[in-house]
Amino acid sequence: MRIPMVDLQTQTQLIRTELDQAIGEVLASCHFINGPAVAAFEQELAAALASPYALAAANGTDALQIALMALGVGPGDEVITPSFTFVATAEAAAVLGAHPVFCDIDPGSFNLDPAKLAPLITERTKAIVPVHLFGQPADMDPILALARERNIPVVEDNAQAIGATYKGRTTGTLGDVGTLSFFPSKNLGAFGDGGAITTASAELERRMRMIASHGSARRYHNERIGLNSRLDAVQAAVLRVKLRYLDGYNLARRAAADTYDRLFADVPQLVVPPRSSDSVHVFHQYTLRVVGGVDRDGLAAHLSGMGIANAIYYPVPLHQLEAYACEADGQPGSGEARARRGPLPETERAAAEVISLPMHSELSEPIQQEIADAVLAFVSGGVATA
Ligand SMILES: *Cc1c(COP(=O)(O)O)cnc(C)c1O
Repeated sequence: MRIPMVDLQTQTQLIRTELDQAIGEVLASCHFINGPAVAAFEQELAAALASPYALAAANGTDALQIALMALGVGPGDEVITPSFTFVATAEAAAVLGAHPVFCDIDPGSFNLDPAKLAPLITERTKAIVPVHLFGQPADMDPILALARERNIPVVEDNAQAIGATYKGRTTGTLGDVGTLSFFPSKNLGAFGDGGAITTASAELERRMRMIASHGSARRYHNERIGLNSRLDAVQAAVLRVKLRYLDGYNLARRAAADTYDRLFADVPQLVVPPRSSDSVHVFHQYTLRVVGGVDRDGLAAHLSGMGIANAIYYPVPLHQLEAYACEADGQPGSGEARARRGPLPETERAAAEVISLPMHSELSEPIQQEIADAVLAFVSGGVATA
């Protein structure tokens, strides 16, 4: 693609000297697993997010699984998640033998709709996992109120929203646990896989650290069943450098979103992503809704044909995936995960309407103008469709 979704080349080149030096230090030390780079990163991450604890993990999917394991989620339990998310959110519960229960989304934020949550809670509900999708915080207060009332822990899937805030507090520190991914294209991206977990609970921190290290606090004295889920020192060194730029990266994304908003203002067939006045959106994705009879898939093909990258996040909601398939009646579904669901009309509508445009910290206004021109040419009917 001539215009990519993300531009890791430019972002990396801009800080190449610092990165080379940080990686060089790890190579000189030959301390590749755990060690000082990982410990320093954990401390700096906790400070940056104002979280009492942060611990590193191998990736964001493991981070979710470790959090659920620490909360005692196991076979036959239920975990409530949105269906409009990346599969890892539900997968982390399913690999533990728990059953995902899918809740509909609020059409404005694309996030779990607190008003749809209560009817899905049962005595088997062991965790609620809201996702801060596309970098926009979920409406946490009503979710937390309901969870506290029923004594159900909340794990925030914060993979897409590092640095976002909700009523002045960073996402990932609102519930019992927050999980992060450092997949290269995330707002804070490593040069491979990486993840982390935030919590304010010393007890959960201790348990999660143990689980991530084969279930042992003391080597060869394993107390419980765990995983091997470590961040390696090279990734930690890279992330320490990039963490210093995270606020700037997020500001640049917000500025690029402002520009798109302006370019698409007053186009009735395009709904720009609404922003809540009490939260700060960090725009992991800039996601439009295509409405008013415009062919969303035709628009996607038109942009791709012009060399302009675009993506449908997510074309198939989880409840329609083979492994997670479930019917609307609340009974366990036919998929391997034996998932359940409530009514999901907004989830299905979003999957049919969304399109995400290039979004990253190095996006320039002329490029955005070019993208917008291509979008608007299609939307205004200036482009012949098949
Ligand atoms: C990226 C992502 C994950 C998983 O992260 P990995 O590091 O790729 O395992 C989980 N949930 C959401 C919403 C994500 O976007």
